[in-house]
Amino acid sequence: MPQSVLVVEDDALIASSLVRALGANGFEARACGTVADAIAALDEQAPDLVLLDLGLPDGEGADVAFHAARDHPTVPVIVLTARDGEIDVVLSLEAGAVDYVTKPFRLAELLARIRSHLRLRDALVANAADRDGVLDLDGLRVDLAARRVTAGGSEIALRPKEFDVLALLVRTSGTVVTREQLIEEVWDENWWGSTKTLDVHINSIRRKLGERAGSPSRITTIRGVGYRLERGAP
Ligand code: CA
Repeated sequence: MPQSVLVVEDDALIASSLVRALGANGFEARACGTVADAIAALDEQAPDLVLLDLGLPDGEGADVAFHAARDHPTVPVIVLTARDGEIDVVLSLEAGAVDYVTKPFRLAELLARIRSHLRLRDALVANAADRDGVLDLDGLRVDLAARRVTAGGSEIALRPKEFDVLALLVRTSGTVVTREQLIEEVWDENWWGSTKTLDVHINSIRRKLGERAGSPSRITTIRGVGYRLERGAP
């Protein structure tokens, strides 16, 4: 079944070309042009993802992001913004949007972000069902209920945030998780610390998994983007 995207955009030309482009790339897309129609469309049949223009004729796009985050928390919202819309972007991210793309954007970049957020969403939803279960990935065993990790049968002592980072990487193994997604999932939304903290945690996890600096790691660094836990031993 194709994944569905709701395009909220009052510029009819942009809306129709987005719907066409998304359709050509395997998505089922529909468009609406006001805050009221967007909220009605979300409530009537929630899409898999929302693309949200912020300047809408009857209100702020941030209201749509807020509504989606509150009533449809598994639907990622990506904001489409003009270059000068920095304040609006901050407000939308605070309201619950997961990402933003600046207009004019390249279609390839927009599609990549849509797919990345849908993959992360799918992984989180699929694993929410067995949140108390045990994840097992090639000898790396993560017990979510007991918050214990073993590798090849030996217990690995992780600090709480290290456990959360590793559990998320195992849940989404084989796909890239962006730095922003990791920080948003593991640290709370009010976290204003340096993103260096994330690298420190990753390096500590690597060490505790018995990996030496410079040798192959199960956790691949995608420079400037994020991390991917590889399936299969390095
Ligand atoms: Ca607009």
